[in-house]
Amino acid sequence: MTDLRRKKPVRAKSLSTLAIHAGEEPDPTTGALTPPLHMSAAFRLPDFGPSLFDALTMESQQPPFAYARWGNPTARALEAKLAALEGGEAALALATGMAAVSALTFTFLKAGDHVIASEVCYAGSVELFGLHLPRQGIEVSLVDTSDPDQVRQALQPQTKLVYVETPANPILRISDIEAIAEIAHKAGALLAVDSTWATPCLQQPLALGADYVIHSATKYLNGHGDALGGVVVGPAAGIHRMRKEALVHLGGAISPFNAWLIMRGLATLPLRMARHSQSALEIAHFLDGHPAVSRVVYPGLDSHPHRDLVLGQMSAAGGMLTFQLAGGLGAAITLAERIRLFTYATSLGHARSLLFYYPTDLYVDAATYLSAAQKARIREWTGEGIVRVSVGLEDAEDLIADLDQALRARSAKGLVGPAAYAALKRIQARSAQETEE
Ligand SMILES: *Cc1c(COP(=O)(O)O)cnc(C)c1O
Repeated sequence: MTDLRRKKPVRAKSLSTLAIHAGEEPDPTTGALTPPLHMSAAFRLPDFGPSLFDALTMESQQPPFAYARWGNPTARALEAKLAALEGGEAALALATGMAAVSALTFTFLKAGDHVIASEVCYAGSVELFGLHLPRQGIEVSLVDTSDPDQVRQALQPQTKLVYVETPANPILRISDIEAIAEIAHKAGALLAVDSTWATPCLQQPLALGADYVIHSATKYLNGHGDALGGVVVGPAAGIHRMRKEALVHLGGAISPFNAWLIMRGLATLPLRMARHSQSALEIAHFLDGHPAVSRVVYPGLDSHPHRDLVLGQMSAAGGMLTFQLAGGLGAAITLAERIRLFTYATSLGHARSLLFYYPTDLYVDAATYLSAAQKARIREWTGEGIVRVSVGLEDAEDLIADLDQALRARSAKGLVGPAAYAALKRIQARSAQETEE
């Protein structure tokens, strides 16, 4: 059997080398170069003795395998690679990005604690903070973390965690990791950074002072849009605690097959991120000058409000951008209908290009956990309606041509869509009122 514990870690500075070699070695029994896929729910336990107790109690940080929820060899290989890429001591792989976020919060927080989190971040995360943590007696302050003063002002004696997503999904606000790490640490709180949109190739939160880095591995780390996964990287003792508490008790174990797919995807991560970033910049420039587009937000453009921070903190601006359509909802409906290379879909970081339209009235107004002032500030940043673009690995000129023809198109659905949407909203409002009565 592959003994992954005996492997010497690859020591290389270059991410391109680590992406291929870290956490991998030829299988000692067969010589297979590709890491084996261990699809086994249970493992033969060691003979009676210290190893058996270690397997059952997980006393050591790399105990013998016992049951696949607690750890499995394919996930462990992925964890070694991700820890190396983020420059962390250890990593915990989980079933999804949300399993990673919830593992972190439910391991390190208890009733009476206070959390400060980005008011705009991945919808699942901000809903976890805004809706679920308060139900557990954990107080949450949602602030604009792109302004470190807001983080400082929100601190309380019982603040245990500052949670920052940068770049923030979907509006691409950038938060200063180094400045916030200092603020959090002075107050005795941990800093966790969701770095999904940057990947270790563009941003290294641990080197900037963060305690934990989180990724939805579903996105760029895997890169092929065919597996869900999540990861937390950080200090060995904290990761071990998360494994024993969150993974064993809350579940959320990654499928070995998904871990294997993500490992395979990681080999090309540095190449892919360079290409995503290059094409996104070309597309951002194209959109910036397009008559149908009223605003483009991309960290690689000089017009980005946090451009200085981007230059100091990120090595490239990544593959995500958002833009606003001069023609509003009708234009968005036509765009979604007429794109051919792009697909109208959620998710991001795939080889294929995706775009998704958020009507601001749904995405911002429906957030019960945001104040009117917060909603107004988000609207001011985005305008009405956001088109979120995940630039894939296709030829940039082909992508630009596809967007151009779809932006210039007129469609019947685009003409009548806004009136139909308004009618639908009136019906929904009426039936909500009737339910209340
Ligand atoms: C998608 C996403 C998540 C959630 O990840 P899942 O794998 O879908 O659970 C968390 N954070 C960010 C920034 C994301 O884009």
